[in-house]
Amino acid sequence: MRAQPEASHFIDGAYVDDPTGAAFECVYPATGEVIARLHAATPAIIERAVDSAARAQDHWAGWKPVERGRVLRRAADMIMARNRELSELETLDTGKPLQETLVADATSGAEALEFFGGIAPTINGETIPLGGGDFAYTKRVPLGVCVGIGAWNYPTQIACWKGAPALACGNAMIFKPSETTPLSALKVAEILLEAGAPAGLFNVVQGMGAVGAALVTHPGVAKVSLTGSVPTGQKVYAAAAAGMRHVTMELGGKSALIVFDDADLEDAVGGAMLGNFYSSGQVCSNGTRVFVQKGIRDEFLKRLVARTEAIRIGDPMDDGVQMGPLVSAAQHEKVLGYIAQGKAEGARCLCGGGVPRVQGFEGGFWVEPTVFAGVRDDMVIAREEIFGPVMSVLDFETEDEVIARANATEFGLAGGVFSRDLARAHRVVDRLEAGTLWINSYNLAPVEMPFGGSKMSGVGRENGRAAIEHYSELKSVYVGMGPVEAPY
Ligand code: NAD
Repeated sequence: MRAQPEASHFIDGAYVDDPTGAAFECVYPATGEVIARLHAATPAIIERAVDSAARAQDHWAGWKPVERGRVLRRAADMIMARNRELSELETLDTGKPLQETLVADATSGAEALEFFGGIAPTINGETIPLGGGDFAYTKRVPLGVCVGIGAWNYPTQIACWKGAPALACGNAMIFKPSETTPLSALKVAEILLEAGAPAGLFNVVQGMGAVGAALVTHPGVAKVSLTGSVPTGQKVYAAAAAGMRHVTMELGGKSALIVFDDADLEDAVGGAMLGNFYSSGQVCSNGTRVFVQKGIRDEFLKRLVARTEAIRIGDPMDDGVQMGPLVSAAQHEKVLGYIAQGKAEGARCLCGGGVPRVQGFEGGFWVEPTVFAGVRDDMVIAREEIFGPVMSVLDFETEDEVIARANATEFGLAGGVFSRDLARAHRVVDRLEAGTLWINSYNLAPVEMPFGGSKMSGVGRENGRAAIEHYSELKSVYVGMGPVEAPY
């Protein structure tokens, strides 16, 4: 299987390469085969990317907002029309099954382009009366060249969630995908160009952390939006601070999903499975600490195990398959290490816990969906982000107790509550220290709703109108209408 792009980078409206850049390989996670070979960006490539983005931004910021919006909406339509092809590429890049990529990746990227294309013409300031005829007005102005740095779990979605609001506000974007999943962002760049965006407005440069770091400290860059782990976030935030650059940080989590006795059992089980096994558990907002109230625990675990054991693992390109492999050999090793640690710490492994044998895909990075019960708060599997299909079920008795335990983490990305008592559900989410919460649902992230974390899980918000504030800044203008009253 091959998915070799024309060249590694997409800059100024064209594929470009510099073979002197460090070589790296893109691997299909279901087989371990190399499907593409690329080069990391060299300093010369980075300069070209920043120069062309700056030129394009200057031009683009002067376009009528409706015209900017139209380009984004046209790109959204093109992505939807090519959904199957883009989803297959996403599956090759990530190993996620087509059943997911067809509905959650390119489509989610298209929705971001459609949403921000729609609101591009509505990005306004305000007029502020100041007495005596004086007034002030504010303008929301673009920041300039923005850098997006992606994780590997949702490559198309991340490129669009960052690119769409950036472009809607009149910025240019240079996107650096994760080196593990370099392919699909190149397609987003091609499509935006074809949709009418000026060459250079959305550039893609490839490479490892060092390329990201070079972009973050480049004097021509005004803003950095990172999706990644907390340790990377700390480095990027610190580096951006030196140049007083704007940041958005979408980082990791260890979110709590709380199931009260009165919850609808099947919904709660379904929510917990979605919040742990979708994308083989490689979702930042996953509710990996599932707190189940004692009265419902046994029934919950019984249904959870039955439904988990029925998950279809296999060829990601088969539409009927529900779970693919993990993204890489490194992630595979990491997740298996956590499973071994959970067993060693005395958690009860109710199902999964091993490596399934998938015929014809023996070289893939497979892990069975795994449920641990009897997990205690101090166990490593309950404290650290695993980023694999490993669910920890913890027991609780009272509302106050579960809230205190749910909040006892440095992370604050997400959380959820299943209960038929809606007053209680609202009360509990109100007290959970997290940026994104669900009631009787889990992990749905529509573009209309702001998404992001608090505490160590992040800074800023993606999606919704809120994202506009993170890709623009206010300019305030005082207008004096009378004589200047100077005391001298
Ligand atoms: P990672 O932190 O290893 O890498 C993320 C990106 O940062 C990659 O593109 C990488 O090349 C780049 N990078 C690494 N070091 C850098 C540096 N010093 N300067 C600039 N860029 C640098 O994360 P990952 O393993 O790719 O992704 C998994 C992590 O991402 C998990 O922790 C997950 O929770 C998080 N994540 C968060 C969200 C969210 O929206 N909150 C979404 C998806 C993933």
